[in-house]
Amino acid sequence: MDAFATIVGAGMVGLAVASEIGGRGQVYVVEREETYGRGTSSRNSEVIHSGIYYPPGSLKAELCVEGNRLLYEIGERNGLPLRRTGKLVVAVEEGQEGYLHCLKENGESNGVEGLEVLSAEKVRKLQPYLRARLALWVPSTGILNAHKFMDYFYLKARERGVEFAFGVEVVDISRVNGGFEVEVREPDGSPFSFTTEVLVNSAGLYADRIAGLLGYEYRVHFAKGVYFSLPPAKAELVDVPVYPVPDRYSLGIHYKPELDGRGKLGPDIEYIEYEDYTVPPERAMDFYKSVKSFLPFVEPEDLVPEMAGIRPKLQGPGDDFRDFVIRQEEPGFVNLVGIDSPGLTAAPAIAEMVAGML
Ligand SMILES: Cc1cc2nc3c(=O)[nH]c(=O)nc-3n(C[C@H](O)[C@H](O)[C@H](O)COP(=O)(O)OP(=O)(O)OC[C@H]3O[C@@H](n4cnc5c(N)ncnc54)[C@H](O)[C@@H]3O)c2cc1C
Repeated sequence: MDAFATIVGAGMVGLAVASEIGGRGQVYVVEREETYGRGTSSRNSEVIHSGIYYPPGSLKAELCVEGNRLLYEIGERNGLPLRRTGKLVVAVEEGQEGYLHCLKENGESNGVEGLEVLSAEKVRKLQPYLRARLALWVPSTGILNAHKFMDYFYLKARERGVEFAFGVEVVDISRVNGGFEVEVREPDGSPFSFTTEVLVNSAGLYADRIAGLLGYEYRVHFAKGVYFSLPPAKAELVDVPVYPVPDRYSLGIHYKPELDGRGKLGPDIEYIEYEDYTVPPERAMDFYKSVKSFLPFVEPEDLVPEMAGIRPKLQGPGDDFRDFVIRQEEPGFVNLVGIDSPGLTAAPAIAEMVAGML
């Protein structure tokens, strides 16, 4: 075999896995973009989630809570940019209050500590510019700079001898005695192939295609979300992330203070067929309407189109909750499919889980 292990995709998850299994033998990471972190890992809210939302016992719940702990540990030990802000989930309409109590119970079942339901008065004292009938305080939520964490995992992987092939796309995989043969397209378009004992599929939006090359059927739906930014003069009025009561598919258009002093509103959700990262400026009005009930100081002209990201979701329109798929499908082949939110938070815990399988 040419390699002990090959990881397809150098996003936050592939990088964390590489840093974890590096040194066990020759490990390669194959990434079709010209460098790491160009996919979903660089187009998201950069929130360290707590794990309150997911069904108890799900991988999303377990790996989010553990990933949260690990990200703070790694960040604080290595001086990486993060801030333990806490967050508020706010009830703004009559009838939403009960949901916050359910969310608190759910979070506690998942092992999230320090959750507290706050009265409107208490919220006003903590964040005078915010409006809420009631709010859930989640102290373990934080914000991070995803690129700096990816730099950290990349360098750690390199130190452990992992080799990266950038601009190289995996186009086919077949089974051979004792492992797999991986066919790739090199940056100049020429074909190349090599053999590997272990293959980890962390190809994000295209993880279903990679799984399909070995006959495993999944459908990853593209769920786009766009963001608008708020100027520092407005962002400084509220210094914690604020989330509305979530809907079935997403956590809702939320507010997040950025590490650079600006604020961010988003993401919305729209199922699309192809990768498209445009931000329609006319959507600013919908965003304004969504947040004005809890951020009354925001004016439509504050909103500036920022960026878009695409969630790789197993949950299609009309479907119920779908968990991450993290599975050794056959000896040596590990699928990581449907790694949507909270995948950034869960990444170091996913890496430990994958390392434990091999
Ligand atoms: C709008 C939005 C907001 C989010 N907010 C949060 C948040 O606040 N907190 C949180 O925890 N999570 C959040 N997430 C989820 C999080 O961003 C993802 O779960 C995480 O980034 C997934 O990382 P990944 O490494 O699996 O995927 P990616 O970063 O997409 O990496 C996959 C890589 O595989 C490569 N690839 C694909 N096919 C091939 C091939 N054939 N050959 C070689 N390489 C290939 C791609 O180029 C890509 O670089 C959000 C996601 C979105 C879209």
